[in-house]
Amino acid sequence: MLIFNLIQTSKIQPMKKFLLSALTLLFAFSMYAQQLPRIIILATGGTIAGTGASADRAGYTAGKIPIDELVGAIPSVKKIAQISGEQISSIGSQDMTIDIWKKLAIRANEIFEKNEADGIVVTHGTDTQEETGYFLDLLVNSDKPVVLTGSMRPATAISADGPKNLYDAITVAASPKAKGKGVIVSFNEGIFDARDVMKMSTTKVNAFYSPNTGPIGQVYDGKVEFYQASMREVNEKTPFSITTDTKLPRVDIVYMYADAPPDMIDMLIAKKVDGIVIAGVGNGNFNKAYMEAVKRAVAAGIIVCRASRTPSGRVVLEDEINDEELGTIVSDDLTPQKARILLMIGLTKTKDRKQLQKYFFTY
Ligand code: ASP
Repeated sequence: MLIFNLIQTSKIQPMKKFLLSALTLLFAFSMYAQQLPRIIILATGGTIAGTGASADRAGYTAGKIPIDELVGAIPSVKKIAQISGEQISSIGSQDMTIDIWKKLAIRANEIFEKNEADGIVVTHGTDTQEETGYFLDLLVNSDKPVVLTGSMRPATAISADGPKNLYDAITVAASPKAKGKGVIVSFNEGIFDARDVMKMSTTKVNAFYSPNTGPIGQVYDGKVEFYQASMREVNEKTPFSITTDTKLPRVDIVYMYADAPPDMIDMLIAKKVDGIVIAGVGNGNFNKAYMEAVKRAVAAGIIVCRASRTPSGRVVLEDEINDEELGTIVSDDLTPQKARILLMIGLTKTKDRKQLQKYFFTY
């Protein structure tokens, strides 16, 4: 401002004065822009990058629109953050792979280690968003925010939800309040802990919710408010790490239902998998046929984790089933798909059942 006043009051020609003033303003703006939080968007695809045949059709092809174009649709976001984007993959998230998870986690850690950004936004399909969120939660080692988002309607649809969700996710990632909250899913104005959140609707725009804990905050009108934080997120740094050489053990999920035959479990024993998560009924229960098959799996050295297909509540150790005698562990309140992730990552550290159980009571 001082320089600006000097130019205005000095005796130089009006044209020069004008040019110098413009330059000063430009300099001041770039200084202001440099102070905005630096956000890197890691794009993976999904409906948020999808295009449909016409505005009134819900059908679409996922992962078509590149990240620069997605950000271009919300120009006002430049007022809240300095944005850059990287395309990690261009897939529907039903095709998410462990390799892409590794790539994301390794890049996120590198961004924070090299101080390339103050926060990361991951654009992602909604189908497996909760799994990617939890995977990153266990492996990204920083207090800085990682925020996942996506959309339920493609960019070409009437009332597409992608631009608003992306704007909100950037707002959350740029907020100092998001520091230390672990990996977050920002969706339809709700802020959720990645550990607890679940896709709850196949098609509605309010697709995400955390059945056990509810949302941890809200983003609305460019303002971020947190109301609670998960103790599992805030207090615990995990002992896990990942490099390109890390090979994740194979863990599969078997669904339990009335009169289910044990064939799937026996097939996995034959495949020599490292772990099996049973999506049991109620409090992680299964029928007698499964019980016998689980004994065979444990005898074969496979870690068997009891989870539940019931969307809320937790699976209690030594309750209806004697885990000590059976040789099983429980998922606590993790869904089967998240229990699989913790078991895969936990098995990179130990095969000790008690230690693995501790992980489930900690993370
Ligand atoms: N199938 C899509 C995906 O997960 C659905 C979505 O993004 O909403 O990529």
